[in-house]
Amino acid sequence: MLITNSTELNQSENSQSVISINNLNHYFGEGSLRKQALFNINLQINQGEIIIMTGPSGSGKTTLLTLMGGLRSAQEGSLEILGKQIRGAKKKQLTELRRNIGYIFQAHNLMTFLTVKENVRMSLELHKKHLVGDINAKTVEILETVGLGNRVDYYPENLSGGQKQRVAIARALVSHPKIVLADEPTAALDKKSGRDVVEIMQKLAKEQGCTILLVTHDNRILDIADRIVYMEDGKLISDGIDTVAKVY
Ligand code: ADP
Ligand code: MG
Repeated sequence: MLITNSTELNQSENSQSVISINNLNHYFGEGSLRKQALFNINLQINQGEIIIMTGPSGSGKTTLLTLMGGLRSAQEGSLEILGKQIRGAKKKQLTELRRNIGYIFQAHNLMTFLTVKENVRMSLELHKKHLVGDINAKTVEILETVGLGNRVDYYPENLSGGQKQRVAIARALVSHPKIVLADEPTAALDKKSGRDVVEIMQKLAKEQGCTILLVTHDNRILDIADRIVYMEDGKLISDGIDTVAKVY
């Protein structure tokens, strides 16, 4: 067990929206080049949910994910993350928000000059609250959980794609973020590694009570979701609440 109070967390925050999006629009470019990328998005995500977001390339999935992660500024509409309004938020507030979010991308983005253990430990070192206690032990524990207990001193170049992505998961989850955002985390992996990676994410998320939003094209992993949302041409076509059967 990675966290001892996850049950308590689930009970006290169970039905709360951790992400609440209302009438959100987003545009790229200026003047005559201005192009709308997101149209009137409405979406509520509750604590502990695993949401898969799918839809064709260019439909706005990454744009929406990066907005939710505070990686770009919301322009129009309302975007509340963990109870805070993000539209109009200052840089400092966005930085604070990002501390509560774990990110996993298609390319694992590991530091090639750091070992597996150092890559994961760095994530803890960025969180003041984690500097108490044995950060080495926490690092090794999560690496054991993702099945890499015997690779802690390896450099990323000596790992397989699936192993690198498992390091990225350990790095994202070691600080027990409230939200994990994953953008096509299995895209570069074979079927078995892709499956392993999402199952590890699912297991850790359930243990920690964290919310996962996972963008994917990978039909083979849809079953891990509590809910599947579908984007097309910058619009949320289904929020998955009672229309999953129609989309699939
Ligand atoms: P998806 O992740 O679903 O493939 P994206 O969110 O990456 O879609 O892109 C949605 C739309 O916004 C596309 O038309 C894309 O070309 C456009 N877009 C994305 N990022 C930028 C950017 N930085 N500048 C201009 N247009 C962008
Ligand atoms: Mg994308």
